[in-house]
Amino acid sequence: MSVACVEKPPLLSIDQSKWHEHTLTHFPRQASLTCDLCALANSSSPFYVCLLCDFVVHQSCLSLPRVIRISRHPHRISFTPSFDQGNWSCGVCRREINNDYGGYSCIKDDCSYAAHSKCATQSNVWDGKELEGEPEEIEEEVMPPFVRISDGIIQHFSHEDHHLKLDENAGSDYDENKQCQACITPVYFGNYYSCMQCEFILHETCANLSRKMNHPIHPHLLTLVTRHDGVIKISSDTDITNYESSCSACPWLCTAGFFYECGEEGCCFKVHVQCATISEPLDQGSHEHPLFLTSKPGEKRKCSICQDDDYTETFNCIECDFALCFGCATLPQKVRYKHDKHTLALSYRKEPSTMTYWCEACERKIKPNKRFYMCDKYCCVTLHIGCLIGKDLYMKPGASWLYNNRKVVVVPNNQHMSRPFCSCCKKRCPYKTLFQRYVFTICSTKCMYHGIP
Ligand SMILES: [Zn+2]
Ligand SMILES: [Zn+2]
Ligand SMILES: [Zn+2]
Ligand SMILES: [Zn+2]
Ligand SMILES: [Zn+2]
Ligand SMILES: [Zn+2]
Ligand SMILES: [Zn+2]
Ligand SMILES: [Zn+2]
Repeated sequence: MSVACVEKPPLLSIDQSKWHEHTLTHFPRQASLTCDLCALANSSSPFYVCLLCDFVVHQSCLSLPRVIRISRHPHRISFTPSFDQGNWSCGVCRREINNDYGGYSCIKDDCSYAAHSKCATQSNVWDGKELEGEPEEIEEEVMPPFVRISDGIIQHFSHEDHHLKLDENAGSDYDENKQCQACITPVYFGNYYSCMQCEFILHETCANLSRKMNHPIHPHLLTLVTRHDGVIKISSDTDITNYESSCSACPWLCTAGFFYECGEEGCCFKVHVQCATISEPLDQGSHEHPLFLTSKPGEKRKCSICQDDDYTETFNCIECDFALCFGCATLPQKVRYKHDKHTLALSYRKEPSTMTYWCEACERKIKPNKRFYMCDKYCCVTLHIGCLIGKDLYMKPGASWLYNNRKVVVVPNNQHMSRPFCSCCKKRCPYKTLFQRYVFTICSTKCMYHGIP
């Protein structure tokens, strides 16, 4: 007998008319029973049975909600004791649903969304609110992100004092110093809006970002914020991969740009634009099967690309043991390079290759089983990811944070005729941005954290 049972024996019988018309009896044996409400056979919670009807249920499943809303689906879903004929699969874990057991299905007749009982009620998708008997909330009208002034001219809520003008010729020439102020990424392709009076730029897609969104890994509604007042503080004795006021999904240090933030009291979840807009199934070149956000709360996985462990939410393969962290998943799939007129694609060689790839920037070998950028027009231009887009992404010149209580400022690396030397590694700073901390010039956050001058 387990300790829990000695301390608090389960009631011998209970009446749960919400779930079953007859009295349920505690079933003391550790037999292999399957719960009719959740379809699971684990004995983590005591079983109750109705011997008249062959009805079996976990004690804990008797508190399952009837009607809920989850972040993965736009409609309410309600508990169903079984599913109609046909093949159903869970919209959360993506695995098959056994039709004979309970689960959740969409309340809309023309929508076929379904989920396992345990999956629909896990804490990263459900906010814990039972909606049975609650009237459908009237969709709060979401303010549009911009007002159209005239053809191709808008006033965006993040830049209210000036008007922005649509530039449809982006892509013809590429300026690596033009950076979108929402996603802190250069304008590689596509249309963008630029301010008619200052240097402010937004991708057309970023200007269209909705001011509210539901994110698949968080149960509450998120709001788009374009200015954040919190100062990011990092110190060498805390875990530097866990910046409290940066993005909650990825390990990148995001000190500028737009964020989707949770407004729920006591909840500090927020995601930067790339982590907010990436969606499942993820079908990228880094893996041959589609990837899904199937992580369970409390579970930690190792990213198959960067090999860092400790990720609580990853894009997972359901056919094999592959997982991709948000940091690796959100790297741009296609970029531009100032010395090549073509597009460079994020590439990966699974099979051992006889080809040797060299990085055009640092002239060192590229390990093809790590990802790298390659020209898609077979110019043979290949570059290390870091050598092309930098070791620290999402760095906006002028942005700052505190490291060991001393201010670090992001500076563009084009201020001098020749590139300055890093105070830590003593090499020339190779990336587009560098960091100024006190009297020191530092090439990357990695150098800063591992070799404080
Ligand atoms: Zn159960
Ligand atoms: Zn499931
Ligand atoms: Zn639906
Ligand atoms: Zn953008
Ligand atoms: Zn402006
Ligand atoms: Zn992120
Ligand atoms: Zn990774
Ligand atoms: Zn390189």
